[in-house]
Amino acid sequence: MNIKCKICGAGVLTDKRIYRMSSPAILITYILLLPYLAAILFCVICFVALTVQPSHLYVPGRLVALTEMREHGVSEDVIRQVVADPYRDAADYLQVPGFPKTAYGWVKDASQKLRDGTPVEVATQGHKLEEKRVAEACYFALGTTLCLVALPGLLLVMKKRVLHCNTCNAVVECTKSRA
Ligand SMILES: [Zn+2]
Repeated sequence: MNIKCKICGAGVLTDKRIYRMSSPAILITYILLLPYLAAILFCVICFVALTVQPSHLYVPGRLVALTEMREHGVSEDVIRQVVADPYRDAADYLQVPGFPKTAYGWVKDASQKLRDGTPVEVATQGHKLEEKRVAEACYFALGTTLCLVALPGLLLVMKKRVLHCNTCNAVVECTKSRA
């Protein structure tokens, strides 16, 4: 169903998609939008990279063993002995002056890890997970804000629907023609 042109009275109005602005204005808008689009892409990539990052890591058993012994107050001297001979009975170290009794289990466990030599699955540290969530939220907020800022620009470079007369070339806005 076509609408007759009110301007020339002869032509017929048909749907047409045209740019809202002149070509140089479109080009300038695209150039201005480019940094925003790049920044949005950057945010998306960072967000995805953070999200897919595992919350558990495989750490060499030796490293975990050393860290756990240090964390439980085992002296460097004892640690050296455990590393040198992981087959030695952990109970021996209870005789060492200043050896914390509570660390016995940890030394036993560390000896086992050193004997196995296999990687150990450990959760990434709590505060690092927190930092990860904060960073995720920041990228999400920044990306969304940039999208909202760039949106008017994107709408400007998008084509709009108008009614075009095939005889006198008159252009009628769709919304106006309906009103
Ligand atoms: Zn016309």
